[in-house]
Amino acid sequence: MKKRIAILGSTGSIGTQALEVISAHPDQFEAEVLTANNNHKLLIRQAITHKPNVVVIGNEALYEEVFEALNPLNIKVYAGEKSLGQIVSMESIDIVLMALVGFSGLKPTMEAIKAKKQIALANKECLVVAGEILTHLVMENHVDLIPVDSEHSAIFQCLTGEAPSSVEKLILTASGGPFKDFSLSELKKVNKQAALKHPNWNMGDKITIDSATLMNKGLEVIEARWLFGIAAEQIEVVIHPQSIIHSMVQFVDGSIKAQMGLPDMRLPIQYALSYPRRISSNFERFNFQAYNTLTFEQPDIKKFRNLAFAFEALKSGGNKSCILNAANEEVVKAFLEEKISFLRMPEIIEKCLSSVSFIQSPSFIDLLETDKEARAISKEMI
Ligand code: MN
Repeated sequence: MKKRIAILGSTGSIGTQALEVISAHPDQFEAEVLTANNNHKLLIRQAITHKPNVVVIGNEALYEEVFEALNPLNIKVYAGEKSLGQIVSMESIDIVLMALVGFSGLKPTMEAIKAKKQIALANKECLVVAGEILTHLVMENHVDLIPVDSEHSAIFQCLTGEAPSSVEKLILTASGGPFKDFSLSELKKVNKQAALKHPNWNMGDKITIDSATLMNKGLEVIEARWLFGIAAEQIEVVIHPQSIIHSMVQFVDGSIKAQMGLPDMRLPIQYALSYPRRISSNFERFNFQAYNTLTFEQPDIKKFRNLAFAFEALKSGGNKSCILNAANEEVVKAFLEEKISFLRMPEIIEKCLSSVSFIQSPSFIDLLETDKEARAISKEMI
């Protein structure tokens, strides 16, 4: 039986790589739904190649063009953000690959869980914003939430066959990004082009900037807390510039398990889709002669303050992580539009964390409000 997959965000970095995985295993997977927000040209090409039953174009102004291209091929076309929440419950879907960027991934993820779909989660922001609510929903509906994020996929793989009580700590590795060894005065001057050059991973713009500021690792710490039900104190971040060890788990007997491989997002994507089985791949193999040293360092949270903010937000709980995420999405957007400098990003996030009203046990509505308020305050400062 083939697994039928809905890819939410099929034209992004994760989406396009997921389609490569699907193409390489036509006997295992088929694309049932493809969705994109604005890149309708690529969406049309993908639909012609992969023949899904349904496509959704987020931007309603592009509906006509997509409809005219795909209707003759018997592909159903829907438009608008609301359609996303509806199509995830389609009976013909086995797995929802959630590859939307940012807060926008939250609502459709909740809908997919309620529809009892297996989730391959590439959108870390929804766990950062609403980890507690999502975790409850997952338990209530007995669905599998399989991480696609490489670090969390690594931890997930290390935890296979282990009792939760035997875990002492999770060790998330981070490449350190392109500015790992920069001084503060050098960091002041870095521009968008430099920040978009990640040393090891090929990813979308938002996550690449987050990697350069270490916010990505901060968000991943929060993501790990909810995915694996572990306290903030049991999560450690280690800089590992080669990105060969994707993350580790240390157990109560002191033993450490690591998952290794070349940095290639297709691997965690494929694992999430094939789980609980492991299937073959022709991805390039790790060569020990090409890497004679693997190194480790402590992260410098004085230079990369975002990582410290994330740990603080996690420890404070409530809506703090939601504030952190909203402020971060706004500053990254502004940095990509060249409106603010690299070091202005953490300054605005810090102010935002202290200005938005704190809610200890936020409801979903409270989180929507928090997100709005935090974005408004960030935009003012931008
Ligand atoms: Mn990651």
